[in-house]
Amino acid sequence: MARIIFAIFLLGPPVIRAEILALPTDDFAWVNLRTTAPAIRIELRYATSQNIAQRPLYPSGMQPIIRAGVARRLITAQAILRRYNRGLKIWDAYRPCDAQAQLWRMAPKNDYVVNPRGGSGSLHSWGVAIDATLVDDWGRPLSMPTDFDDFTPAAMLRYTGNDPIVRTHLYLLQTTMANAGFYGLRTEWWHFTTSDWKRYVPERLARLSNAVVLPTIK
Ligand SMILES: [Zn+2]
Repeated sequence: MARIIFAIFLLGPPVIRAEILALPTDDFAWVNLRTTAPAIRIELRYATSQNIAQRPLYPSGMQPIIRAGVARRLITAQAILRRYNRGLKIWDAYRPCDAQAQLWRMAPKNDYVVNPRGGSGSLHSWGVAIDATLVDDWGRPLSMPTDFDDFTPAAMLRYTGNDPIVRTHLYLLQTTMANAGFYGLRTEWWHFTTSDWKRYVPERLARLSNAVVLPTIK
């Protein structure tokens, strides 16, 4: 994986190299994707009503914050997608614990929402997970298996539908994210966790989340 990221670093356009060089060298530092990776589109769904709560869960002015080590991998993913005239759109990055608690109150005992008190919260709250989809050069969304926060079987990591275009889009997203150093989540095709996530979280959360953080491609 390090070789892939290094190759992107060498071969990628100067703007990508500049974005990576501008990141803090401390992987644990928090960065704002709007300023560190401006080519990546941002649409924080929990800042809008387009989510399972059908109302904003984030305070106004919430920014797409993430660990610098994760931002580096997202910039790499964006560079890979540029070759296909595609790009990333981020639906969620850092998620405050209060927003996670609100989600849990709405959907307790739901396979798709982590109990904020059950361990150490969502991996989003540690800045190591993001929710993302694909867009074209104009920022228009590409057809994917479901919309965000669609907690149905169609949202599973492994696509079971019959639409070949959706299949192609999801395959591109998942192979790109795998090559950039991300894992998937069994129940949400849009959720990605950096493969070195255990560096960033307490050991008890690492044990709890082992079962749901999976390679995106078998
Ligand atoms: Zn997620």
